[in-house]
Amino acid sequence: MAVVAITAAERAAFKRCRRAWDLGARLRRGLEPVGTAMEAEDPVRQALAVHYFPGMWAWDRTIVRPLVVQSAGDAAGYVERYVDWAAALDDFEPVRVEFDFDARIPDPVGDRDLTAPDGRAVHYQGRVNALVVDNERAHWLLVHRFGPWTEPAELQLDEEAIAAAWAWEATFLDARVHGVLYNELTPEGRFRRTRLRLSPGAIAHAGAQLAVEAAEMLDPSLALYPTPGPYCPACPFLEPCAAMQDGIDVEALLLRNYRPRPPEELEEGRLGGVTWGMGRGAMPAFREHGSRSPPD
Ligand code: SF4
Repeated sequence: MAVVAITAAERAAFKRCRRAWDLGARLRRGLEPVGTAMEAEDPVRQALAVHYFPGMWAWDRTIVRPLVVQSAGDAAGYVERYVDWAAALDDFEPVRVEFDFDARIPDPVGDRDLTAPDGRAVHYQGRVNALVVDNERAHWLLVHRFGPWTEPAELQLDEEAIAAAWAWEATFLDARVHGVLYNELTPEGRFRRTRLRLSPGAIAHAGAQLAVEAAEMLDPSLALYPTPGPYCPACPFLEPCAAMQDGIDVEALLLRNYRPRPPEELEEGRLGGVTWGMGRGAMPAFREHGSRSPPD
C-alpha cells in the first residue's frame, strides 16, 4: 500500500497558509499551475555533490577538481572560488551526498506509528546535501543555503535541518547526528560556514513536534483558512484565493488553469541519492545498493 508522504516543503506550506497547502500539497488536492516547468538541477549544487562525493574524497584533489569544474558548467569560476575557500574548513569526511531520507512518523498520542484515516503509513521524506563525519567520528549534516546570509536566530530555529536529523536517526536507530554545518553561498560569491550543535533532546523534540503537526494535517475536520502575508504575490494560487475570498466557486477555474502535480519519487540511482549503503572509490553516477545500515 502506498504511503502518505509529508515533505519539508509541504510542512512549511501548511504552517504558512492552509489554503495554499490544501490546494498544492500532494497530501491534499496536489495542484500546480498548468505549464509549470520541471525544476532544473542547480549546476552549483551538482558540482558540490561531486566535490563532496564520498567515493572520491580521498583522491588527489587535482584529479577531482576538473570533474567538479565540468559539473559546474557556466558556474565553474564561482565553484572554484568556493572549493578554494572550503579547503581550510572541510575537516571532515563525507559519507553521503544528496541523499534522500524516508522515516515513519510516530503517532503523537500512542506508541505506534502514525497512520492516515485510510490506514496508510505516514512518512516524512526529504533530501539532505551531505552527511559527514568529523575526526571524532561524530556525524553532522552539511546543508547548503543559497542566497543572502541568514540571521543567526533563523538558523538556530531552522526546523527543516533538525527534522532531517530526526529522520536520519529514526531510520538508523543507532545513528546519532551531532549537529548541522550550514554552508551559506551568496550569489555574489561570499561564503560562510556555521556550526550548530543539536542536543539529543532537541532532535527528539523536533520529531515529536513533526508528529503533532502531521496528525493535525491528517485530521478530517481540519479548518482550512487563508493566511495572507508578504508571500501572497508569489503564491501560485493567488487567483483562486482572491475569488474564494469573494465567495466565488473556483472549481471551474482550478480545472482550467491547474493540473495534478506529478508524484515526487525518491531516486535511488541518482548521485548519492541512495537511502542506504554507498560504496567508496567509485565515480559519480554509478549505481550501487547495499544493506540498510548506518554509515561508518
Ligand atoms: S494568496 Fe496568500 S492567502 Fe491566498 S492561498 Fe496563497 S498564500 Fe494563502
